[in-house]
Amino acid sequence: MRIGHGYDVHRLVEGRKFILGGVEIPYDRGLLGHSDADVLAHAVSDALLGAAALGDIGCLFPDTDDAYAGADSLLLLREVCRHVRMAGYEIENIDATVLCQQPKLRPYILQMRQKLASACSVETGQMSVKATTEEGLGFTGAGEGVAAHAVCLLREREAAPEK
Ligand code: MG
Repeated sequence: MRIGHGYDVHRLVEGRKFILGGVEIPYDRGLLGHSDADVLAHAVSDALLGAAALGDIGCLFPDTDDAYAGADSLLLLREVCRHVRMAGYEIENIDATVLCQQPKLRPYILQMRQKLASACSVETGQMSVKATTEEGLGFTGAGEGVAAHAVCLLREREAAPEK
């Protein structure tokens, strides 16, 4: 078993879509970034890469590369999972927490879990998403940005028995 942790932050600005866990959430602002700035998908990606000691998504998908401008982060996550499986690991479970003052995320949690689980080719029951505010404190409390943490557990695939 190998454990991984990921953390990401993106700034909330006007004139951008608010995409979280692959779900477009109606709001008057959205997350700023080179890709679609899906802070939750990025934290999950970094947890998976971290558990496999494969670096981080900045190494895999540089924000200097125009190929990833406006990229769908679920597709990036799918690619991350391909790397993790090629390295000989299977995903046991993922648990993520989004730190967001507004809007309320509860109505979208199940859909986020389903989208992320699908991108990772795991069951929804292996993909947990939680949301909390920071009680008005700090940059998430002020609505300046959204942060996300994720942890995951990978299991080393057993080698095929010798014949
Ligand atoms: Mg990011």
